This record gives sequence, C-alpha cells and structure tokens, in this order.
Amino acid sequence: MTEMSYLDGNMLDGPLRELLAVDLSAATGRCAWCGMVGPMAGLRVYAHAPGLVGRCPACAEVMLRLVRAPDRAWLDLRGATYLQVPMPPTGPPFPR
Ligand SMILES: [Zn+2]
Repeated sequence: MTEMSYLDGNMLDGPLRELLAVDLSAATGRCAWCGMVGPMAGLRVYAHAPGLVGRCPACAEVMLRLVRAPDRAWLDLRGATYLQVPMPPTGPPFPR
C-alpha cells in the first residue's frame, strides 16, 4: 500500500484567508436542494433569527446560516454545494 503524503491543515490558513476576505456578494453559489446556480447576492436573507439565514430564491431552502457572537462566528454552508468566488488572476502558490 502506498502512503499518500499530506500537509498539516495549518497550510489552509493563507488560501482560506485570501478566499474569505473577498466580497462574497460577488460569489456564485449552487443550491444543494434544487441545483439552482446564482449570485449569493440573490439569496433571500432573513435577519430576524438568532443569526442571518440565506434562502434560495428558487426553492426557499436554507443555503447559508451565519451567526455572530461577540468573540466568534459560525458559518453553515451545508445548503450550498459550492461557492464560486471571483479571484484576482494571480494568487499564492497553492495547488489549483
Ligand atoms: Zn434551491
């Protein structure tokens, strides 16, 4: 059996920091429930919950939950199959 090499999860810090520092309203997301692909800015956001709840404009299922506490935040994206984020043409040297 061949042992696959891997890197410590700490190496994700730079790539994720670059990704999460962008304006997510410019991102495109795919609804995990109905498959609709569209701008995250098109979500219907309900702010009268303990946090923010973003629902798909096509099927009304939850795509995103964001809860902010004074010292931490929780981001739940299980309702989105993926997020596609516009990036500058050059970036850090991580595998693409
Ligand atoms: Zn949907």
